Amino acid sequence: MEQNHKTEPKTCALQKKHCGGCPLLSQPYAAQLAAKQARLEKLLGRFARVRPILGMQEPWHYRNKVISTFAAQGKGLTSGIYARGTHRVLPVESCLLQNETADQTVLAVRAAANACRLPPFEEDRGTGLLRHCVVRVGKTSGQVLVAIVTPGKEFPGSRNFVSALRAECQKRGVDLVTVVQNINPRKTSAVLGTEEKILFGPGAITDTLCGLQFAISARSFYQVNPVQTEILYRTAIEFAGLNGTQTVIDAYCGIGTIGLCAAAKAKSVLGIELNPAAARDAAANARRNRVANARFLCADATEYMVQLAAEGVRPDVVFLDPPRAGSTPEFIAALAKMAPKKAVYVSCDPTTLARDLALFAAKGYKARAIQPVDMFPHTEHIEVVCELCR
Ligand code: SAH
Repeated sequence: MEQNHKTEPKTCALQKKHCGGCPLLSQPYAAQLAAKQARLEKLLGRFARVRPILGMQEPWHYRNKVISTFAAQGKGLTSGIYARGTHRVLPVESCLLQNETADQTVLAVRAAANACRLPPFEEDRGTGLLRHCVVRVGKTSGQVLVAIVTPGKEFPGSRNFVSALRAECQKRGVDLVTVVQNINPRKTSAVLGTEEKILFGPGAITDTLCGLQFAISARSFYQVNPVQTEILYRTAIEFAGLNGTQTVIDAYCGIGTIGLCAAAKAKSVLGIELNPAAARDAAANARRNRVANARFLCADATEYMVQLAAEGVRPDVVFLDPPRAGSTPEFIAALAKMAPKKAVYVSCDPTTLARDLALFAAKGYKARAIQPVDMFPHTEHIEVVCELCR
């Protein structure tokens, strides 16, 4: 594929203030891609040729999820990102990586909170109400979800706040579909807690990916770069070589995106996911799209693969998309015992991918194609899809 990444570097005023959001911003995009390619060739080149990384034509404003942390400013509050390595909030008005509708939504949240005189949470003293807000935008639907994180269950004035927020969003042309309160009493770096209360709307937005509709709630895992996600999934499905006859396992399936996108070209799909909320979302997404040949269950991928292998289950294709820690030797051994013709490994950490590809090789699975996709321009992160054949 012909690629042209002559995108000029942009500057951002937040960088001088030690925003850690885009560590590669000062490098031209083509140079970032070349550096990622070189790093991958070094790490993965011994397994197969590394295809040229697929970059973005417009590598800006790709993030569909924004986290903004509240802090006191004058008599009111502001919000933004922590300065690198600190808990000092840098107010953010706009960001080169964030979806512009999400930026507008954060400004609406701030305006509404200030109009209602809601106090920001102060970490040191443990006082105040608003900790963070999380905004998610459906790239194709334009729908917006706002989650307000509070330290406790109390949210005095929440009804007034929601009315004010809806008005502020309307002013800015933001299609606010739902507002939730997320309760996070813990003093950790995790933004969201486990308890949630819907303040307005259905509690989730929908977005379209590869022609299918997905429901996205505040806590569900959903890739943050929707443009590149379609390229990633299409590559993974192409590597699987599906023709409608194969039985497929989608391990570490999240809300079922890869498995559901593959289902039209498969005989059946079984998705395995550890997070119960994500597994439920996956089943609901199958119903929503009337995909009748996909099932999802909540289990540890390794334990379940070991069990399926012992039962003599023989899938034709296994997709695996584990978190950064990668898969496990037991998972890979169980997969080899099931002897699918193909495995397609989607990885967000090339170091653990290299470790796992060596384990696959020892079990008779050879990498045939390695395709990097730049899901996170201006950051060090790299996503890779690898086709493995028995
Ligand atoms: N394939 C999905 C999700 C990938 S993220 C997508 O593209 O959107 C990795 C997923 O693995 C997360 O949803 C996480 O909850 C899940 N996960 C983490 N550890 C797991 C385990 N031991 N067993 C099964 N799933 C696990």
